Amino acid sequence: MVLACEAPERAAAICSWCGEAAVLELAEAWSDHAFQLETCCHASYEEVCAGMADDPAWARGLLRHLGAEVLLGHGLRRVADTGCGQLLLDWKLEIRPVSFTRAANFVRRHHAHNAAPTAWRYGAAITNGATLLGVVMVGNPVARGLMGRGTVEVNRLCIRRDVPRALAWNACSQLYGWAAREAEARGFERIVTYTRADEEGGSLRAAGWIKEAHVRGRSWNSPTRARTDRAPLIDKLRWSRTLKPRRALHRLPVPPTIMPLTLDAAA
Ligand SMILES: [Zn+2]
Repeated sequence: MVLACEAPERAAAICSWCGEAAVLELAEAWSDHAFQLETCCHASYEEVCAGMADDPAWARGLLRHLGAEVLLGHGLRRVADTGCGQLLLDWKLEIRPVSFTRAANFVRRHHAHNAAPTAWRYGAAITNGATLLGVVMVGNPVARGLMGRGTVEVNRLCIRRDVPRALAWNACSQLYGWAAREAEARGFERIVTYTRADEEGGSLRAAGWIKEAHVRGRSWNSPTRARTDRAPLIDKLRWSRTLKPRRALHRLPVPPTIMPLTLDAAA
């Protein structure tokens, strides 16, 4: 006789709280990072939630096991605890292409103290799942002294503040890191940026940038634009990374030194 052989391990699992067949499933997961588990009873639900809050690595493994990554098509970075008792699906951050117009509009909407630049050389967006977190815009150095020396500048780096902070964790560092790698790939020898003197530079340090100057600032990076009321008149810090491009940028070959043989011959 062949007995029904459907999922014997599931049939054997009995919930120690309610005594029924244990149920633990991912009922729903939304693109806004929220998700809903389904369990056999409330006690079991509480236990799982407490376990996830205590052990993010276990939580990630559980959500993977329950199919969250397949469902939404992203890789899980962790399950983020917002601190308000809500757990969110925190996906691996991804650098993505973005148009200048979209990046500039994003900066206009989200940047705390700056207008959008009027031009760029290149830039990118960073996403957490379906959520656009921020953009980086890289262009020519604004300070005249830095122009024309194989240097580019991160003119704007903007992370929105209307998403839970946990989801944007490490986003600044990844954008600064990407901006430098891209500059190097494009043949630039150096990349610089400015922060307000009262801003933390942790994400720049983490991306390998070095603080190199304290700049007494008047105009903030936008000499071509009339300053708005919101632009602060405060000191800035200049940060930089020295790059090692494999191909040189706009460099004419250096002519070999030619000895004045005629003079020598005459002597
Ligand atoms: Zn139960």
